[in-house]
Amino acid sequence: MSTLPTLFVSHGSPMLALDASNPAHGFLKSLGASLPRPEAILVVSAHWETATPRITGAEHPDTIHDFYGFPEPLYELRYPASGNHALAKQAAMLLNPAASVDPIRGLDHGAWVPLLLMFPQVDIPVLQLSLQTPLGPAHHLKLGEALAPLREQGVLIIGSGGATHNLREYFHASADGTGVYQAFADWLHDTLSRDDREALRHYRTRAPDAARNHPTEEHFLPLLVAVGAGGRKATRLHASFDRSLAMDAYAFAD
Ligand code: ZN
Repeated sequence: MSTLPTLFVSHGSPMLALDASNPAHGFLKSLGASLPRPEAILVVSAHWETATPRITGAEHPDTIHDFYGFPEPLYELRYPASGNHALAKQAAMLLNPAASVDPIRGLDHGAWVPLLLMFPQVDIPVLQLSLQTPLGPAHHLKLGEALAPLREQGVLIIGSGGATHNLREYFHASADGTGVYQAFADWLHDTLSRDDREALRHYRTRAPDAARNHPTEEHFLPLLVAVGAGGRKATRLHASFDRSLAMDAYAFAD
C-alpha cells in the first residue's frame, strides 16, 4: 500500500456544500476519487477548539450544523459516517500524554462539508481532532508529527481551514481576492514549496499582512497539522478565491 499524502483544504463558507459555481466545490468533488481509497479519515477542522487535544470516539458521530442564517437546505445535509473508537484511542496514545477521546462530539461543518464533496458515498470511518489555538503553530506542527504513523495504516489526515480567512472583509464590497489576500496566498505557496517550517512557525511576523489575512489563527492552524503529518513535498492542488477567502488546497507527499 502506498503511503497516503496528507491534505490541507480551505472550506470557505458553509454554502460551499451546495454552491457548484464556487470553483472549490468542483475541485473537492474530483479530489476524493484522485486518491487511493483511505481506510479511515482524520480531520482537524478550524471549528473545534479545546484546551487539550480531543479526538472523536463516537461510533456514529452526529452532523453538527454549526452556522446560522443560511438557507434551509444546508441544514438538511447529513454526513452519517461511522467513527472508529479503536483508532481514536490509538491516535490519543500517539498524542500522549494530554490527549483524550471524546465519546459524544460529532463532525462540524469544517469536517463534513469537504467530506460530503470528496467522499459522497459516506463509506469511510471519520474521526475529528480538536485545535488548541492559543498554543500556536509550533504545537500544531508537533501534533501532526505525532500522528504521521497513522498514514502507514491508510489513514487520510486532512487539515480543514482557510488559506486566508478574513470574514469581516468578505462582506465588504471591495473584497475581490486581489492585493493583500493574493500576496499572502503567494507567500504560503512559496513557503510550503520550500518546506520552510521555520517560516510557518513564525508566519505571524514573516508573512505579508498575516494578521489581516488571519485575524484569528484557527483557520490557519489545521494547515500546520497537515504539514507536520505529511511528506516533505508540497503540491498546490487548487487555487481560487471566494472574495477575501483563498480556497487553496495542498497535498503533502513523500
Ligand atoms: Zn470555517
